[in-house]
Amino acid sequence: MQNADPAPGTTEHTEREKWTSDAARDLYELPFNDLLFRAHSVHRENFDPNLVQLSKLLNIKTGGCPEDCGYCSQSAFHNSNVKATKLMDTATVIAEAKKAKQEGATRYCMGAAWSSPKPRDEAAIVSMIEGVKALGLETCMTLGMLSDQQARTFAEAGLDYYNHNIDTSERFYPQVVTTRTFDDRLETLAHVRQAGIKVCSGGILGLGEEVGDRIDMLLTLANLPEPPESVPINMLIPMPGSKMAAAAPVDVIDFVRIIALARLMMPQSHVRLTAGRASMSDEMQALCFFAGANSIFIGDTLLTAANPGEDRDSSLLRRLRLTPATLEMRE
Ligand code: SF4
Repeated sequence: MQNADPAPGTTEHTEREKWTSDAARDLYELPFNDLLFRAHSVHRENFDPNLVQLSKLLNIKTGGCPEDCGYCSQSAFHNSNVKATKLMDTATVIAEAKKAKQEGATRYCMGAAWSSPKPRDEAAIVSMIEGVKALGLETCMTLGMLSDQQARTFAEAGLDYYNHNIDTSERFYPQVVTTRTFDDRLETLAHVRQAGIKVCSGGILGLGEEVGDRIDMLLTLANLPEPPESVPINMLIPMPGSKMAAAAPVDVIDFVRIIALARLMMPQSHVRLTAGRASMSDEMQALCFFAGANSIFIGDTLLTAANPGEDRDSSLLRRLRLTPATLEMRE
């Protein structure tokens, strides 16, 4: 090799090298065609470019959350119409997971609007993990902050993934959430990783952040001791009653650039096109798939927000000749 220090974003760059802010920014600023070409090339080297992993998300405990995430309709700080519920019973969760499997999901994600799970809820969470796992699905939970012990308990129950988004850059984080810190988030991610659970962590575009915040968010994720296996990139759905109800929409090209950058900076991670898909055109989603997104949530709702639903997704995947990944294809 002529160049002993391959440029980030080339196929020789590995995810183990630390990314610098300048290298990430240089990629982001490339002419759009060059950025997409590079991202798609790296995508092809690491994944079948025509496979999309499908997950389904169930809200197992809705609303009344003591955190003040500015984008969220489930925060008790916001005047939204979301009614707080108790934790769903395990039998209902398992029945819903069975339906999700029939619809083609390979991963079942369960989310609770908590700051962190209470000790009294842990047994129910364990039984949900065990029950969903017994169906042959991958399991994912998103329950807020986890202690080291809780992460180990859920790992022993068979939890495959834990979702805990860092949302944005460390600099912008206090504009989004004030009831916990960016470091709190990283601490939970460390507990999850140490317990041997795979990490799902990403963020949201459209909170009022600058491009530099979006790039810094990816830098934080890519420079973790191990990058997340799954990186959800959300486009804000402005929720009525939330602090960000009137946020300006994200520019589509800027959004696709961040998908491409995520692919380049975390070549072996699943980049997940998450919230906001209902308001994305099919053409925008197609560009995102080309840029390196290879995972979506299926179903009509995503927590409390709308999601495209089976008919539109089936049609989109068919038109793009994309194939849903099956359980047998899991690595
Ligand atoms: S995003 Fe999660 S932690 Fe934040 S307010 Fe909503 S439910 Fe609570």
